[in-house]
Amino acid sequence: MQQSYQRSVCHRAYGWGNFAPVMKNLFLPACAFLSMTGYAQLKSDTDVLDQMRYDVQYLASDLLEGREAGTKGERLAVDYIAGKFSTIGLMPYGDSATYIQSFTFNADPVLGPNNTLQIGRVKLKLEDQFAVLPFSASSVARAKVKKVGYGIHAPELNYDDYKDEDVKGWVVAIAIGSPDGIHPHSKYLAYHDLRTRAEVAASQGAVGVIFYNDDKAVEDPSLRLSAKVKPCALPVLFLKGDSYHEHLITGNPFIAQTDILREQRTAYNVVGLLDKGKENVVVIGAHLDHLGWGDEGSLHRGEKAIHNGADDNASGIAVMLALAADLAEMDQANANDYLFIAFSGEEKGLYGSNHWTKHPTLPISTLNYMINLDMVGRLDTSNVIGVNGVGTSPAWAEVDRTLIGGLKPKTTTSGIGPSDHTSFYLQGIPAIHFFTGTHADYHKPSDDIEKIDFPGMLKVTRYIESLITSLNDDGKLIFTKTEEVNTENTPRFKVTLGVVPDYLYDGKGMRIDGITEGKPAAAAGLKVGDVVVKLGAIEVTDMMAYMKGLANFNKGDTAPIKVLREGKEVETTVTF
Ligand SMILES: [Zn+2]
Repeated sequence: MQQSYQRSVCHRAYGWGNFAPVMKNLFLPACAFLSMTGYAQLKSDTDVLDQMRYDVQYLASDLLEGREAGTKGERLAVDYIAGKFSTIGLMPYGDSATYIQSFTFNADPVLGPNNTLQIGRVKLKLEDQFAVLPFSASSVARAKVKKVGYGIHAPELNYDDYKDEDVKGWVVAIAIGSPDGIHPHSKYLAYHDLRTRAEVAASQGAVGVIFYNDDKAVEDPSLRLSAKVKPCALPVLFLKGDSYHEHLITGNPFIAQTDILREQRTAYNVVGLLDKGKENVVVIGAHLDHLGWGDEGSLHRGEKAIHNGADDNASGIAVMLALAADLAEMDQANANDYLFIAFSGEEKGLYGSNHWTKHPTLPISTLNYMINLDMVGRLDTSNVIGVNGVGTSPAWAEVDRTLIGGLKPKTTTSGIGPSDHTSFYLQGIPAIHFFTGTHADYHKPSDDIEKIDFPGMLKVTRYIESLITSLNDDGKLIFTKTEEVNTENTPRFKVTLGVVPDYLYDGKGMRIDGITEGKPAAAAGLKVGDVVVKLGAIEVTDMMAYMKGLANFNKGDTAPIKVLREGKEVETTVTF
């Protein structure tokens, strides 16, 4: 079924599909001769332009509904790209001799149908009167309710809401404020986090938690569900408004059911090898996924709409496919094999490239370098091509010497950035990212084909071909570590740990995928593979808890940090 679908796509995809075999037969002797003399038969610029237009038109069409990882639209993109790989003649290099490598990830959770709350004889209404907090377990609590103040257990501050309270087998009602209010200078700052308080209640033997807000100066908790949040062991609810006076009376019977659907989904990388019988392999990659109808990364406000992602990143896939077709014919490109990978799940946190580099389909040791194409469709008149990651090898000095089509390379050095080259850099592979720059349509439904500069994409294609050729004599490129990494450096944080989190890690805590020299984590002796489980007083259960923990610190603060290293707990201190 799928195979036949792929084939029909191929023929449609290459406009000259039916004509090509005839051409080939007619000119076979000449081609053979040309190839022996090392003459390259590149496709004409017009052919490449037509092809790229076709690719972007399909990938960025509404039919694919924005290609969100784990959806039907993603699968259509995957089939299309696999079909193209097959037409170009790449060898299948995904799972078990197919083009496709699958991986699973946690989809964005949604509220299930079974969220109920009854206190005493009163049945309360979801949304209007109560809510289920994003870190709640999906479970049932049937017990009596008991108020425990702010639910703070802070022996070092000589404060304990659980002193003289046995809450074993009770549901606890907790006010979301703190003894000295909710503000950045509160003595109890490390205990403000509601999840931390729910975990404390669980450790005291409570079977459920209901929060309420009796302090007008305090904002109600966020109800936004996120895949970055792991559930705790208890049902955790929030009672809205002022009805706590009426309902949360110690001894009242309490029955709650909580239901958050946390689904695992499957996404697909597409992997094909251009086998030239060489020792080293150059990886050329681009992400195929985008934001669907508006994933977490969307900057669109208002009614739901398809995010077609013509620039981000149908453009990168189209250039990757053009490169695959050209390199297959180019004798000047015979110094390496080429592995083409269309990554999925990039927008959700570099999932696909993270997965491939940890489950490589050929030995990582054979990789020479990696070229990432992410957003290459908006060159326009400036002719400035961003090339990120040139610090990952001295050989990238070649970038500044490659002057093709009037392009002006604008380089940055760090191997770490918000796209898939990062995953390769973290494995010690020289990796660069081509990027024609951001724009007002970035991560919005207006990132459409009308705004794509196809002649610009052709220039980028020719530029990369020239760069690859000029690196032929360099053998395997030398890898260098780069400085200045800052994926966490958003305005939310005053401090950074200087690590790259593993967003695909599914266990408890935050797993470190990369460490920046000269930053707090490196100075504290943390290592790649360490799993941070406690930062200051915050239990780091997931990415969200880690980010909240980080937000508690100022520059110059010192905090205890606990990590799991090869299964053993290691405690140290970190200075921000
Ligand atoms: Zn993007």
